[in-house]
Amino acid sequence: MMTKLVITVAPTGSLPMKSKTPHVPITPKEIVECALRCEAAGAAVVHVHVRDPETQAPSPRYDLFQEVVEGLRGRSRLILQVSTGGRAGMSYEERCQRLALCPEMASLTTGSVNFPDAVYINSPSLIEKLAADMLRYRIKPEMEIFDTSMIANALDLAARGLARPPLHFNFVMGLKGAIPATAENLMHLKSSLPADATWTVSGIGPAQLPMNVLGIVLGGHVRVGLEDNIYYRKGVLASNEQLVERVVRIARELGREVASPDEARAILGLTEPLSVVS
Ligand code: ZN
Repeated sequence: MMTKLVITVAPTGSLPMKSKTPHVPITPKEIVECALRCEAAGAAVVHVHVRDPETQAPSPRYDLFQEVVEGLRGRSRLILQVSTGGRAGMSYEERCQRLALCPEMASLTTGSVNFPDAVYINSPSLIEKLAADMLRYRIKPEMEIFDTSMIANALDLAARGLARPPLHFNFVMGLKGAIPATAENLMHLKSSLPADATWTVSGIGPAQLPMNVLGIVLGGHVRVGLEDNIYYRKGVLASNEQLVERVVRIARELGREVASPDEARAILGLTEPLSVVS
């Protein structure tokens, strides 16, 4: 029997604004409430970005991350995965501060990539510093893979003792400027991983559903949410919980059971975070 499916929801991201979709949670309170609905629908992990509540712009503010993390702890079993992504040229200091909240996981992009509107810069030294911070706080990195070379970079971090195996990867596919969302590319990414690694697949826009289905069939895990895709189908806006519900239904039809947050902890090999241990 295949491992149970770990569903990550990425409800907010950096891009969608209320003017594009009313379903995107922006304030910490909206993000917390949305995450709770997604947990009830079957999500095990929530990938957290925060926004300035006034302008809706991506924000590095510690107090906003803190409000989300603390709002979910105690009310939820969800695995909290804080994004260390930094659009609009956020500095290392701005991107690492939130790690002091000791979420169980955090994203770590192991290379630079062209986004449609900007260069997403992750220099070797920035990647090393973020990886070292995560080790110190006992946070499991999710290696964000926008292109094949980023897998090699992640394995190199592990070889140098900057990340502890088994590694966990998220393939972000179908973003213009990064790896195209094709079955062949997914097979290649999957076959480039060490045997003990776990992986999730995210598809951007219309690639979300087909890549999720491939992930379910191939024994990987999936990410859904408005960060990657705001539509249920062409022309019809989705809510985050609808996207979770749909992927749960499809997984069950395909004979793949869905992991609870605690089952996901075992699958992803999470240890207790520092704040809980000490
Ligand atoms: Zn993100």
